[in-house]
Amino acid sequence: MRMTQFFLPLVKDVTQDAQIASHKLMLKAGMMCQESAGLYAWLPLGLRVLKKVEEIIRQEQDRIGGQEILLPVIQSADLWKQSDRYESYGKEMLRIRDRHDREYLFSPTNEEAVTNIFKRFVKSYRQLPSILYHIQWKFRDEIRPRFGVMRCREFLMKDAYSFDVDAQTARETYFKMMASYLRTFSRMGLTVVPVRADTGPIGGDLSHEFHILAQTGESRLYYDKAFDELHYDDEIDVEKILSLYAMEEGMHDPKICPVSKENLREARGIEVGHIFNFGTKYTKGLEAGVTGKNGEIIYPECGSYGIGLGRLVAGVIEAFRDEHGIIWPESIAPFKVGLINVKESDDTTRLCADDTYKKLQAHGVEVLYDDTQESPGVKFNRMDLIGLPWQVIVGPRDWQEGKVEIKNRKTGAREKMSPAELYQKFL
Ligand code: ATP
Ligand code: MG
Repeated sequence: MRMTQFFLPLVKDVTQDAQIASHKLMLKAGMMCQESAGLYAWLPLGLRVLKKVEEIIRQEQDRIGGQEILLPVIQSADLWKQSDRYESYGKEMLRIRDRHDREYLFSPTNEEAVTNIFKRFVKSYRQLPSILYHIQWKFRDEIRPRFGVMRCREFLMKDAYSFDVDAQTARETYFKMMASYLRTFSRMGLTVVPVRADTGPIGGDLSHEFHILAQTGESRLYYDKAFDELHYDDEIDVEKILSLYAMEEGMHDPKICPVSKENLREARGIEVGHIFNFGTKYTKGLEAGVTGKNGEIIYPECGSYGIGLGRLVAGVIEAFRDEHGIIWPESIAPFKVGLINVKESDDTTRLCADDTYKKLQAHGVEVLYDDTQESPGVKFNRMDLIGLPWQVIVGPRDWQEGKVEIKNRKTGAREKMSPAELYQKFL
């Protein structure tokens, strides 16, 4: 993509209400813009990141047997009345009436809707286990939307729902999902702490929230320092993770905390995911029984599992940034390379930069090419701000020596290499 053609509306001065770094940086870097209170439009740079996050989540859900569906955002109020959540959900739910005066709502979550699909098509225990998920917009009329897409009103969520034949297999599914979450976040370069959580109005007995550790987090956490040494790769030992202490402030009681003072860490966290095991609350409530082995009716044991994609993008920025801007992990960077021509006015340099651009593309590298007439200083600052992992700098002096310069955004390390070495590097 050529910068001269790219829709990248950078903003110098952001409004007062952008208090935290990710909110400011997302506006400054032209990733998104505000439409109204708690409502944001994703612009090309931001959407590229959101799509990459979505794809990693999708791959990891598919890997544990999840099957993707897509429900409408607007739902009839009837099901919610049946499950008794229509009134109790309170003011966060946006209620709507159609032209026939029928009651609808804009989904804040989808336990009822998915259980209803399950009920219509699954009749026997032989069809279990089943994990259905979708990645869809939600609306919650938050009382105090703030921090940009971190706590907004309309946001993209991956929500998965599992159905199992009994409580034991439901717990196994829950643990599988936990491992999947840890892998998902680790692919984005994040160390995320799963903390025990209250199940709240959703009901049930087992629940974890997944927190990115960041100063600006809304939650205060207490956890075993052993978490800091964990790596979440292919072999995730869920039992070990579950045996480690991690609690949110409200659930932490220093008097009964089993971790010694020296080993207990206190930190702030951003909740990016939340998983629940809630048993038969909805399958019973919505009469979604199936026939068991002996022909009896059984009610499948369920869980629900959410990840907020927009909040995750903002959380990654909170975790990876410096005074110059964002530092994207490669896996979700909007482009891998930012190509900078430092002397646009010079014909030879421009031809060389054009050639580098074409060849990088031909090698399958996603590259944003700053081919504008602006000064090198402006170009460098802009690339630092938007945080692409690699900058490739083409200038007349280096080119005469048959070289380009490459800078690592994260470490700042610079290196000169021939174009051939450059293409090799990104193969
Ligand atoms: P919170 O406690 O932060 O209000 P929640 O417990 O209401 O979140 P869940 O119902 O567990 O959230 O939703 C799953 C995920 O959706 C959360 O972990 C979070 O990443 C995301 N999410 C929830 N509310 C918002 C919001 N207002 N803006 C952006 N993302 C959100
Ligand atoms: Mg929550």
